[in-house]
Amino acid sequence: MTKPVILTGDRPTGKLHLGHYIGSLKNRILLQNENKYDMFVFLADQQALTDHAKESQSIYESIGNVALDYLSVGLDPEQVTIFIQSQIPELAELTMYYMNLVSVARLERNPTVKTEIGQKGFGESIPSGFLVYPVSQAADITAFKANLVPVGNDQKPMIEQTREIVRSFNYTYQTDVLVEPEGLFPKTETEGRLPGLDGNAKMSKSLGNGIYLSDDVDTVQKKVMSMYTDPNHIRVEDPGKIEGNMVFTYLDVFGREEDQVTIAEMKEHYQRGGLGDVKTKRYLLEILERELVPIRKRRLEFAKDMGEVYNMLAKGSDKARNVAAQTLDEVKTAMGINYFK
Ligand code: ATP
Ligand code: MG
Repeated sequence: MTKPVILTGDRPTGKLHLGHYIGSLKNRILLQNENKYDMFVFLADQQALTDHAKESQSIYESIGNVALDYLSVGLDPEQVTIFIQSQIPELAELTMYYMNLVSVARLERNPTVKTEIGQKGFGESIPSGFLVYPVSQAADITAFKANLVPVGNDQKPMIEQTREIVRSFNYTYQTDVLVEPEGLFPKTETEGRLPGLDGNAKMSKSLGNGIYLSDDVDTVQKKVMSMYTDPNHIRVEDPGKIEGNMVFTYLDVFGREEDQVTIAEMKEHYQRGGLGDVKTKRYLLEILERELVPIRKRRLEFAKDMGEVYNMLAKGSDKARNVAAQTLDEVKTAMGINYFK
């Protein structure tokens, strides 16, 4: 029996942060260890180029870094196929065919793309590749006939767009070649979109408001100490607010069962007044370090042999390419353009 297929990925635009960890990496490890799925994880370097066209060198470096992030959180290349998007030209070819099934107006309506266009300050010069990236995501997902796509909440519109393309393609060419995927979203709103240290709605590589899995303890400490709390909580005696206070938001996300009593007491104390930000931040630092220490340790181990890391990516890319080529062949046959076959 064939297993359900899972596909997820990240843009190699920098190292991965706690938002990725809580919004997707942690869940990937659980899914991997369930052993019930055929899983593909990929580095979306072509997508990174849509808003970093001139920075191919830094994208290359990020590929190494994100691969290290993967290995250090426990993704296992023996169980999961890890590959690089640009090494699978079939994906670009699929994108070409799908683009004809999606109107420009539909692309412009995508709420995540709209927000990102605002954040990235493209002005009047939005790269056309950027506008089209949800179509290329549809190609990534469908090439592997993924049934499940675990992603953060910002990716909901991309899954919806993919489902539309699948329906449109299958209807237009009277086929059932493409598979309609389901998104797999984190359980809570905060896990699905962890806010930034600065209180911004999303911790994001491009906004520079994150704690990275590879940050050393001093850096994590500095970042925690500078976190956005309650701007009106000036003196320790003042009552403070916990809503919108990043320290408490993060404690809710990263606290385990056994921390709940302490967290509840702290919240109560903070709201009553008499509990300073430095104390709450020190506690948060402890909680975060408990998660980060083992990750950092494994990262150092894998980083000793980058040649082996790139080898692993090359092997994964070969394997992924075979799968995508098979789907492309079926797609072209369905479209009636496999002229010489
Ligand atoms: P960029 O700013 O370059 O777009 P990013 O930080 O948004 O980077 P991506 O590589 O675009 O990261 O996202 C990879 C995956 O991680 C996606 O599934 C996305 O939904 C999820 N993700 C990213 N940031 C967060 C966050 N703050 N909270 C939860 N999930 C997140
Ligand atoms: Mg993003």
